[in-house]
Amino acid sequence: MLPNTSKQIKITILGSGTSSGVPLIGCKCATCRSIDPHDKRLRASLLIQSDNTNIIIDTTPDFRMQMLQNEIDYLDAIFFTHPHFDHIGGFDDIRALNFAMHKEIQVYLNQYTLDKLHKSFYYAFEVPEQMGGGVPLCTHHLITDDPIDINGLVFTPINMFHGRIPDLGYRIGNFAYLTDTNFIPESEYPKLQNLDFLVIDGLRPRPHPTHFSFDEAIAQAKTFNPKRIILTHLTHDVKHSEADLPDGVELAYDGMQFSV
Ligand SMILES: [Zn+2]
Ligand SMILES: [Zn+2]
Ligand SMILES: [Zn+2]
Repeated sequence: MLPNTSKQIKITILGSGTSSGVPLIGCKCATCRSIDPHDKRLRASLLIQSDNTNIIIDTTPDFRMQMLQNEIDYLDAIFFTHPHFDHIGGFDDIRALNFAMHKEIQVYLNQYTLDKLHKSFYYAFEVPEQMGGGVPLCTHHLITDDPIDINGLVFTPINMFHGRIPDLGYRIGNFAYLTDTNFIPESEYPKLQNLDFLVIDGLRPRPHPTHFSFDEAIAQAKTFNPKRIILTHLTHDVKHSEADLPDGVELAYDGMQFSV
């Protein structure tokens, strides 16, 4: 491992789509038929990189393609937000990284997500029935309220709600990623001040019981006064080129990058 010689952090949106992805199977709407690459939305995930470190948030059902497209063959850590399948579905594919890295992957998550991961990927947590292609190998670290330092990249957990279930957002430097939420307790507000970039769940213009709509996400984001507001976890309701958004607000797209 090289010493951490730079504080520059590069963020890449690996997926900007909702649970079904966009295009949606069987849908003939204008967004799903669009040839604009901005309208191709894999499931929601994020890559955080410094000179010597690769970290992702969530292993989506598109995890394999997201790793291949971004030529990632090493991960220092995976952070999970919550255990809905669109955020954990690619967990089995960390086997390939185990092979490439010749070691386990460090996984950071809360107890709620760990319990559900056990149920969804039971075989990874049991004595194997037989030897074969292997199982995902990882070391679990339970997240508390304390910041987590990975090679100088400090992750501050943000405790949120996604409907009734707990969900973790993360702040890294002057950037925060708050996906799959429709309620952020005021106790977390001090952690979200002085942001340059805020990527926040803004599912679609219409309301939803467990996600912020565009207007709700923008109103919530503005209480923190970040320099840029980026809506993610997007449905097919809006084409990228036709989004009608206020100044300082934009839609995420797959491959979007910025430095913090
Ligand atoms: Zn989701
Ligand atoms: Zn559609
Ligand atoms: Zn969810």
